[in-house]
Amino acid sequence: MIDNSSGNRVPSPVSGFTSNSLNYNNMLESIPVAIYTCNALGYITAFNNAAKTLWGFAPVTGKDQWCPSCKFYDHHNEPLPAGLSPMARAAEQGQIVEQVIIMQRPDGSRIKMRSHCVPQFEENRTLQGIIVTLIDVTHEEGNISKQARLAAIVDSSDDTILSKTLQGIITSWNKAAERMFGYTQAEAIGKHISMLIPMSRLSEEEYIIGQIAQGNRVEHFETIRVTKHGKEIPISLSVSPIKDESGNIIGASKIARDISTQKQAEDAMAEYARRLEVINQVIKQISDELDLNKILQKVIDATTELTAAQAGTFFYKKANSNGHFDLVCSYAHNTTKQQYNNEQILTSPLFSNPQVLRVANFKQNSSALLSNLFSGLGLNNKTSLVSCLTVPVVSRLGEVIGVLFFEHAEEGKFTAEHEDIVIPIAAQAAIGIDNAGLYEEVKFLNEKKDEFIGLASHELKTPLTSINGYLQILDRTEKNEGSRKFVTKTIQQVKKLNALVSDLLDVSKIEAGKLQFVNQVFNIGTLLDDVIELIQLSHTTHQIVLKSVIENVNIHGDPHRIEQVLINLLTNAIKYSHGASKVEVSMEFEDDKVTIGIRDFGIGIPEEKFSQIFSRFFRVEELNPHISGLGIGLYISHEIVARHNGKIWVESVMGQGSTFWLQLPTGIA
Ligand code: ADP
Repeated sequence: MIDNSSGNRVPSPVSGFTSNSLNYNNMLESIPVAIYTCNALGYITAFNNAAKTLWGFAPVTGKDQWCPSCKFYDHHNEPLPAGLSPMARAAEQGQIVEQVIIMQRPDGSRIKMRSHCVPQFEENRTLQGIIVTLIDVTHEEGNISKQARLAAIVDSSDDTILSKTLQGIITSWNKAAERMFGYTQAEAIGKHISMLIPMSRLSEEEYIIGQIAQGNRVEHFETIRVTKHGKEIPISLSVSPIKDESGNIIGASKIARDISTQKQAEDAMAEYARRLEVINQVIKQISDELDLNKILQKVIDATTELTAAQAGTFFYKKANSNGHFDLVCSYAHNTTKQQYNNEQILTSPLFSNPQVLRVANFKQNSSALLSNLFSGLGLNNKTSLVSCLTVPVVSRLGEVIGVLFFEHAEEGKFTAEHEDIVIPIAAQAAIGIDNAGLYEEVKFLNEKKDEFIGLASHELKTPLTSINGYLQILDRTEKNEGSRKFVTKTIQQVKKLNALVSDLLDVSKIEAGKLQFVNQVFNIGTLLDDVIELIQLSHTTHQIVLKSVIENVNIHGDPHRIEQVLINLLTNAIKYSHGASKVEVSMEFEDDKVTIGIRDFGIGIPEEKFSQIFSRFFRVEELNPHISGLGIGLYISHEIVARHNGKIWVESVMGQGSTFWLQLPTGIA
């Protein structure tokens, strides 16, 4: 609507701005920009719809000067008198005036608008009128200030913030980016982002852009970037897509955080954990080891490596059988062996002074203790020794039993951290050495005991054989029935004693690796029959039932030793099944192996003891406190079977009985 229909028809100030130029009017009507005209006196002569909307009312053309019911202010919110309005100034100055002004509409709402006033002149240069366009900039202005605020925030941020196009061209670069990468804004903007990426990581950019192009964010991407001066820095990147007004992705904004400190802390943590792991491993190895020399070697090897020493020596003070001490030295793998004066070292402050000693520069340290110490070690003139660390190894009783000594040709090579690493290992070494000592002692005593058992049983064998011989003679010659009964009983007891002594002798022979075997080929079925018959004769409480037997299977081995095993298993089956009345025996042959099972219906064996019963002197005492035995029968049986390349094992249910299985190969033993 171009309203110029008032009674006082005012000539149109603008050429073509008339009712008969319909298309032109239509166009002015439809555009969203407020346009109006006024004559030289300031009376509004025409206005379009957008102007009416902007003002909030429709002025009367030819009557209203500007907008009578609106109030006007300049951009500082100061009232703007009509004489200073942009329109008035354009009229007065005769030139285009553009000014941002604030208008308060009749309903009290305020809008900010940019007014553009173009004076129109007659041919004789007299002012004809003014064409005014008004553009609502209320929000635009707000956006601009918002952007300015954002820019200020981005600029003052401690985090590096930059943006780039999808092609990787940098489009913004804040102060923190300058500080992090060393490039100024002018140097960075317009350059390709790859200038910050190490060659080996160029493919990351492809990945990041790929994600961004799909509208995804890339969060906390840890990587390395390179500064202007070539320094590589670990950073954490968060990248988000930038969209234009229509929502198209046109670039990416990146926030980068320097994570050097965090990385250093992580690396330190990882290093600490690694060391702890090594210390634990060394400590475990020491605890598992019972050989003294191996302990010394492991300790010095590990600690020399952990302290990065050039040389490491473990001086160990070992008590000898004369009540004196010997010096045992173990050297780390990278150390050349040195000859030390035994006495001098053992009497040096190394062993009398249980202190950790760390010397940054031995050449510049004039303490008496040190020079005494190093002259003792014969190291005073050693040029390759500058810094050193000594850590004592102190026993449970507080005695220095050893010293770990580390050297380096450079000054100040050892730190408090090295002490922290070596001290726990030295403490564990002391325990390991104590244990190794105890183990040696036990081993020694055990050997003595085996030696004694061997000797004693050997010594007992001779008189027993004589007693047996005399008893046999007496048995044949004695006529008195009463006396012969006693002789028979005595012969039985002597047989038992003889078997016991033989077993003991076997044990000592096994320990000494001297158990003899006389191998031959024999029929195992026949042997089993014979043994059953023999045992059945002397044990009448139980019936031994042979459930199955294979007659024609030969074994290559020692029949007397296998007989010994079968006798032991059968007598045990009877011995440990007091209330029962039978023992079942079976024999099978499969895959070139003979398997014999001896089953009783007695007290049974708890499962956790299955493997232990085959060890020396082991008895399940709690179940059979009144049944006599030495706990060596199964031990000897196990050894005999193993020497025949066979297997022996047990299956048992408590209170229901046990089955002992014996498996022997039929091949050559
Ligand atoms: P001993 O019978 O002289 O004690 P062994 O070495 O023959 O020695 O047996 C070791 C231990 O195994 C026995 O003390 C006993 O506790 C257990 N044992 C062996 N055979 C049986 C069995 N048939 N039933 C229950 N326990 C048994």
